[in-house]
Amino acid sequence: MGMIDNATRNTQNTKLAAPRERSLSEITLMSAAERLKGRPKLCSDCGVCSSSYRPMLPQVCVFVDNKSEEIERKLHGRNREDGDELLFGIYRSIHVIRMARPNPDAQWSGIVTGLGALLLERGIVDGVITTMAVPGTHHAPLPVLARTPEEVRASARNKPCLSPNLDVLDQVRESGVTRLAFIGTGCQVHALRAMQDELGLEKLYIIGIPCTDNVAYPDMMRFLNVASASPETVVHHEFMQDFRVWLRHEDGHVEKVNYVDLDVSALGGERGIFPAACLSCFDYQNTLSDLTIGYLAAPLPPTERWQWTMVRTEAGEELFNLIRPFLELGAFTQRGNRLLGVSEYVRMLKKPRGRPPFPIRKLIAWMQRNRGPRGMEFARSVIEMKLLRNLQYVRDAHSRLERRVVPGHVYRALAQYAQVYEEEFDRPLAP
Ligand SMILES: Cc1cc2nc3c(=O)[nH]c(=O)nc-3n(C[C@H](O)[C@H](O)[C@H](O)COP(=O)(O)OP(=O)(O)OC[C@H]3O[C@@H](n4cnc5c(N)ncnc54)[C@H](O)[C@@H]3O)c2cc1C
Ligand code: SF4
Ligand code: SF4
Repeated sequence: MGMIDNATRNTQNTKLAAPRERSLSEITLMSAAERLKGRPKLCSDCGVCSSSYRPMLPQVCVFVDNKSEEIERKLHGRNREDGDELLFGIYRSIHVIRMARPNPDAQWSGIVTGLGALLLERGIVDGVITTMAVPGTHHAPLPVLARTPEEVRASARNKPCLSPNLDVLDQVRESGVTRLAFIGTGCQVHALRAMQDELGLEKLYIIGIPCTDNVAYPDMMRFLNVASASPETVVHHEFMQDFRVWLRHEDGHVEKVNYVDLDVSALGGERGIFPAACLSCFDYQNTLSDLTIGYLAAPLPPTERWQWTMVRTEAGEELFNLIRPFLELGAFTQRGNRLLGVSEYVRMLKKPRGRPPFPIRKLIAWMQRNRGPRGMEFARSVIEMKLLRNLQYVRDAHSRLERRVVPGHVYRALAQYAQVYEEEFDRPLAP
């Protein structure tokens, strides 16, 4: 049986829906309310429901039934052990890395698009699902099936908005591609893993990017209006490990804004800007990918463009070995102890404090930069805070969904805050 025949045979077993009516460029420019209309309460627009694979929603959607522990057992033969795996996911090896020749147009050093391009160059895959920008915008995502290394390289840099990447699976099927690489976020990867066996693919490589607090495109622009003195000229921005947002402008200058100076209340607070799905997301580190490439635990300063990777599966090792000759390896650093800060965060979740006056904010920013956790400890603290915030959001806003959307490892990961949680919220942390 030929490759295309295999794909056809498998997808014949899957009931497909009629294709979407709007183009992907139109979809990604829409407001969250418009694009998520008619969807379940929690939806990050991963792309399944605008594609002909929509009938698979109940089986694959992370917000209908979070199967991450089941998928983990399938991938690794086990679930997470106590310790760092609870926060970072299961990995075989972990490295500080950067491209020896960084791509100046990339988000960091360009490892993700470098790897995608290499897979095509070496003939290991026939297509890569990656995310370009909608023409005429810097930040609106447009997922594509890239067939050449140049197309993958042209997709470098974050378009930090909800992107329906799995919609492109229709093009994959129609074009007969059966050796595929996918670059995407955790919610997309959950659905892709859950439907993987139905797609008739001969080979699938999943390159995961960490993802948290994503937004619909119009909300991204609202954020830039609050964060930047010149929102229209921002081409690149990142929430850095030095507790500042760095915003790079068209003329190359970099604006740096302390986290504590961001006026989140002007955006309606976190719940006013982030979609309900992203506030109910428990896979920041994209733990079901073959390898995850991010920056959270990488050493500073950001100008050195160090990144980190967690190599998770055998296919991930293959990917790492492929890109290895193009990399420099660095060393992990660590400073501080997150326990006090994260415990204090639990108290603030219960009793949010207003924005302090400028001199206090200045002091907080200095303390965060000079005394706050660094390296691996910074990564642990950020992941724990997102888990705590999102668990509380689900309990407040969608309590009946908790059993289905919060995986068991979240409670294990947060067990050391059980006492402070119970004191503040007057209920146990564990379900
Ligand atoms: C919304 C968002 C939030 C993130 N938050 C964190 C974080 O908190 N901590 C952390 O360590 N890393 C985070 N990342 C990942 C990080 O910013 C870099 O993308 C990653 O380190 C790769 O850098 P690079 O230079 O190797 O990528 P590049 O070579 O520049 O390639 C970037 C890749 O990202 C893909 N991409 C761009 N936008 C999207 C999108 N909206 N959806 C899916 N794929 C997209 C592109 O297809 C491209 O392949 C986030 C990424 C996104 C999109
Ligand atoms: S997250 Fe994906 S699968 Fe779930 S409802 Fe939204 S588009 Fe459908
Ligand atoms: S924060 Fe989570 S749900 Fe939202 S886009 Fe990122 S991975 Fe998906």
